[in-house]
Amino acid sequence: MYQRTQSSAPSGRPSREGRPQQSRFSSPRPGSPSRGGQGSRFGAPRSGGAPRYGAPQRSKKQRGGGEYIDPSRFINTTPPSQTEEVFVPVHAFSDFVISPELKQAIAARGYSKPTPIQDGSIPYVLQGKDIIGIANTGTGKTGAFLIPLIDKVRKSRHEQVLIIVPTRELAIQIEDELRAITKGLKIYSVCAVGGVSISPQLRALRQKNEFVIGTPGRLKDLVERRALNLKDYATIVLDEADRMLDMGFIDDMRYIMERMPTPRQTLFFSATLSPDIERLVGQFLTDPVRVMVKKRDTSKNVHQDVVRIAPGIDKVDVLHDLIGHPDFAKVLVFGRTKHGVEKLAGILGKRGIRAESIHGNKSHGQRQRALQNFKQNRAQVLVATDVAARGLDIPAVTHVINFDLPNTYDDYVHRIGRTGRADMSGKALTFIESRN
Ligand code: AMP
Repeated sequence: MYQRTQSSAPSGRPSREGRPQQSRFSSPRPGSPSRGGQGSRFGAPRSGGAPRYGAPQRSKKQRGGGEYIDPSRFINTTPPSQTEEVFVPVHAFSDFVISPELKQAIAARGYSKPTPIQDGSIPYVLQGKDIIGIANTGTGKTGAFLIPLIDKVRKSRHEQVLIIVPTRELAIQIEDELRAITKGLKIYSVCAVGGVSISPQLRALRQKNEFVIGTPGRLKDLVERRALNLKDYATIVLDEADRMLDMGFIDDMRYIMERMPTPRQTLFFSATLSPDIERLVGQFLTDPVRVMVKKRDTSKNVHQDVVRIAPGIDKVDVLHDLIGHPDFAKVLVFGRTKHGVEKLAGILGKRGIRAESIHGNKSHGQRQRALQNFKQNRAQVLVATDVAARGLDIPAVTHVINFDLPNTYDDYVHRIGRTGRADMSGKALTFIESRN
């Protein structure tokens, strides 16, 4: 049986069941209040219940070149609000002028009432209007554009929709959602993303597809090869437009938008509304309707705390200790670099933890496999870089652990937004290393 000792690192791949029940650190568990007098072997318990691995933290500068973020901004130990506002939609799905088959498919998908972004946008999309939807991932924005557009392509069979997204993962997620809603409705789609062979996409584009979902670079490539004629697409969705700007896709986006037909219907979604985004909206959209959903206040349903790590303590040991706790059922761990993420997942694997990793150096297939293993609970831990985890919809993540500090507070908000989704409460822990 696997026993971790203080002096020797374990070898081989012990089973998770073999993990000792008792932590090697005797400090309080995250979320459980410090027990007076018990104390950590690395330091005295701190009032307020934050886990503590070591002496008081003195450092004021963040390592690794990111912006300095006051650690107090990583703490919100107020329990998730008991009296969370309940959103009452103006519409029921039955109110929308969409086909009965589509209504049935929505019900079969388990959607009983529209989310705020769906409630606010679907009626306008059905009227053919351009939309600016300001909403984060996790708000149901995919349904906000897919539901009315599925109805549109079913009513007029020559309609084709182009959906542009920043990442392969998001494209696949949208195609999965499309397939789930259109089961049996004979709607066809192509996922035109980079990082995989272009040949199957070239072949698929020879057939009629109601939906093409792609990333900007690959879509441009397909246009240049004359496999994709943008004039055929009178409806376009730009999803996570702010992220596309951040990722440097502006030229590819412009290339595509300049070749789109007019008139057309343009649906534009972004989590933020910066001056750059406003400029794009002015260029690409015509008389759009603005639908803003209240930005999710992550501090409300994510319990946040820091884990202070004293000099000489190995963060990996601390992480290992935490994820051995039964509450840590589905844990997303963020690391700063691709190399660091890969290494950490490897170490956790060697210690018997079912861990996967996603980062930019992995092939598309590897990323998808890792994601599926995590989503379907075959892996307990997913170690990820910020970019790889953007926009991912992973249900029921119990904990987000910031193993490395985020570069910006905005990154932090994105990271912790991976837990506490869909009205569930979640927990986020941020490792803060002290220096001597
Ligand atoms: P999205 O923001 O589009 O990534 O959606 C986040 C999650 O909410 C996905 O798992 C969707 O399947 C789910 N979802 C979308 N619309 C609804 C709805 N009306 N009711 C319940 N769940 C929904």
